[in-house]
This record gives sequence, structure tokens and C-alpha cells, in this order.
Amino acid sequence: MTDCPYADCPGEVQSSAKVGYCLTCRQPVFACQQCGAQNRAFARFCRRCRCEGEFPKRSMGAVGSKVLDLLGREAREIAAADQFWVAPASRCGFMWALSLSGIVWRINPAEGSAARFATLGEGFGRSPIRIRNLVGAEGSRSGTHLLAASPREVKSVNLANGRSFSWIAASPGGRLLSDLNEDGYVTVESDGAYIYALEKRAAGYYLLRRHLDREAVDEFPAGGQPAGGPLRVEGDAQAGAGVDRPGDQPAGGSLRVEGRICAYTEDSLLALGDSGVARLPYAVEGPALLSPREPHSYLVAPGASPWLTFGSDVYLPAQGSVFLYMSLKDFPKDSARLPVTEHSAVSRDSAGRFVLTTPTSGAASGAIELFKGPAPATRVKDQQLRATGAEFLDGPFAAAFVSSVGAGRIRFYYEGCAPRDARLAGNIENQIGFYPCGAAFVLAHFGDKSLGFSIWDV
Ligand SMILES: [Zn+2]
Ligand SMILES: [Zn+2]
Repeated sequence: MTDCPYADCPGEVQSSAKVGYCLTCRQPVFACQQCGAQNRAFARFCRRCRCEGEFPKRSMGAVGSKVLDLLGREAREIAAADQFWVAPASRCGFMWALSLSGIVWRINPAEGSAARFATLGEGFGRSPIRIRNLVGAEGSRSGTHLLAASPREVKSVNLANGRSFSWIAASPGGRLLSDLNEDGYVTVESDGAYIYALEKRAAGYYLLRRHLDREAVDEFPAGGQPAGGPLRVEGDAQAGAGVDRPGDQPAGGSLRVEGRICAYTEDSLLALGDSGVARLPYAVEGPALLSPREPHSYLVAPGASPWLTFGSDVYLPAQGSVFLYMSLKDFPKDSARLPVTEHSAVSRDSAGRFVLTTPTSGAASGAIELFKGPAPATRVKDQQLRATGAEFLDGPFAAAFVSSVGAGRIRFYYEGCAPRDARLAGNIENQIGFYPCGAAFVLAHFGDKSLGFSIWDV
């Protein structure tokens, strides 16, 4: 046992776990990797030895097969009573969610509480949030922030202290893309040095970029077509080969893509480079899916962005029954159309890789497949598998919904072990996704006028 790191709390913390919570105040804590002292959720330096650290991401796979026993218990249920359109996120032992009324909610699984944390205002909560470390920012703006956009503004909330900041304002007559229904699959992004958003003006679409420590906003014309994104592509990647193909519009010559911010349209990836936005036409047939209203036959988690980047790999949803795969390492040589079965679902594993779940159909067994580049490898096979978009993979551990007589239920898998069904308080249908969160494993789901959380302590 060690002392609780929170002010005015006389409590004690179980000192063995890497992540946990104080048994008295129920606030999340994490152990210093150097000296083992327990620190507050948002501490950047250990309070005993001053070494740098941050709240670790919990690996469910690393818990071992005993995770099945822990998850076999009945889940606790809590709910945030507000209207929500977008998926929540897990960070530093809390779940964070942004409601349609512009309120940032903080959910503490260990405490069983859901509370209003900060207010962003009108127009927020209609496009996916991002939680990013703005460590490059000066002074009080430095830290872990929840970023979101409204048609008028990009704002953020510092999750350590609840202070909010305004970063980008829409230009006169312009509208920041910030609505899943109206603008499609759009969000905001940061690479730690800049914040990015998309804007629609009479003249077309623009990618906007604001340096964390400078007032000025750079603007880059992104063409006349509706755009999705921005998305962040990492890794050392070269994307020049596709630009000068016969028939394509020249897009400013060879382009180096390295930890790059992109957007996408129906027929091209738009990559921000030194000389502006370069248009990289897809080497495989689209058209890419820009909005949930366009025709497609697969399921994606509601309230989230269905496109996905992992390293230099980009997976874009396409209309019909296809995903477009591109590696920006060698664009467009390494690209493919990934056909998906009707009613299958796409999700991502704990590292962010592309996961495809094919439901059981007739005699064919359902499967959860994890992709490496364009190639799938089957991780789970189950005669009762359903596809919902909420599937979760973390190494040897997996969670998914299965159909048994009359009802949907959750099944947990661990490689080499018999799967285990979970007990829930109610019948959950609008599942968003599973999240490791501090010392808990959480299933988020949309309720009628609330956002619900099923919580298992692990
Ligand atoms: Zn405490
Ligand atoms: Zn320490």
C-alpha cells in the first residue's frame, strides 16, 4: 500500500498494479516505472523521483487468460443522461464523451460516476472527438486535450483541469466541417505541433492548420469535392509515384509523405505537403464513402470515423461492399480493394489495425480477421458470431457479440481457452465499442436519451 497522490485524500492505493485507483477517493492512479510511486492520472513527472511518465494504456491481452474469469462477472451499468451522437474515448483511467448540447462528460468507472466536466457550447458534439497530447503548447495550454469542432470553431478542453481553449474560427461565410449528418466523415486532428480542420467556403474546401503557439491559421485549398478527414498517416512514406501518371492532373511533383496530414475525396487522397495539398488519385477503383448516408453494406461503429490509418497504411471505406487499402510507403503500387461480405463489420484492434468481422451465415462460420496491410489473418472463428462494429481485439484477447436464442450477448475469447459469455444487466443493442479504461474494461452503448457504459473490473 502507498499513499494516495491526490490532495486532501488520506487513502491508500494497492501498490502492485501498474494502473489502479485509490480505494478511498476512487480516482485513477498509475505507478512510476522507475520507483513505483503512485501518481495522479494526468501527472507528467513522478511526484517522488521526478522522472517523466504517463498513464499507461491497459493491455487486456497482457492480463492473461484469467481475464476471462474477471469478465465472467456481471457488469455494472452507469449512464450519462444527455443526448449523444458521437463515440466516447478512453484516456487516463476515465471515459470522455461530448454531448449534443456541447457538454464534455467525464465517466469514472472505478467510482461508478458520470459527471459534467466542461462546456464547449452550441454546435459541438456532431462529429467525432479526438484526444491528443498538445505537449508542444506553451504554458497552461500544454497537456492532454479533447479536441472538437462546431461549424464556427475548433475548441479543446484540457482534461487535467477542465480549462477550454479556442483554436480555429471559421472564416466569414465559411463553415467548419463538423457534422456527421451534414458534412459526413469529418473530424479534427493534431500531430502535437498543429491542429487541423476542414472548412467549406463558396470557393471550395480548405484544409486549415493552426500552430499551437501561433495565432495565424494557414489555409490550403483542397478542391471543389466534398472531403472527409483530416486523417493522420504515420511512418516514413514516399508518395510521389502516383502523382504524374498519364491522365492525372499534375499535383506539384513528387511528394514526401512522412507523418502527414491527409484528407480524402471520392476519388483521391489529399496529402498536405510543403507546397500545399497534393491530390493522389486512388490506384484502385472507388468511390470512397464520405458519409454514412451513402450506399454501403457493412457496419461501422456508430458515431466514429470509419476510415483508419495504421503506420503508413490507409483504409478508406468505399461505397458498396469494399474498403480501399493503400500503403503510402509506396503509393500507389501497394494498393488493393478489400471486398467485404454484406452485413460484415469493420472495427480496429487495440493498436489501431483494421479488423473485419464476418457474421455466421448458414453453414459458414463467422470470423474476426486482423489485417496486416491488405492481408487478413483469422483470429476468432465462432458458429454464433454476429457483426456489430464493436468488436475488440487485443493480442490473444477478443470481445464480440454472438447470437444465442432470442438475444444478443457478449462473448470473450482468449487464445487457447474456451470462450466465456458475459452477464449484462440489460439487453444492449446500440453498441459503440469496447475500451480498456484504467482498471476496468468498458462497453459503451447508445441509450434512448443517454450514453451507457457496462463496466467490468479487471
Ligand atoms: Zn485517494
Ligand atoms: Zn518515480
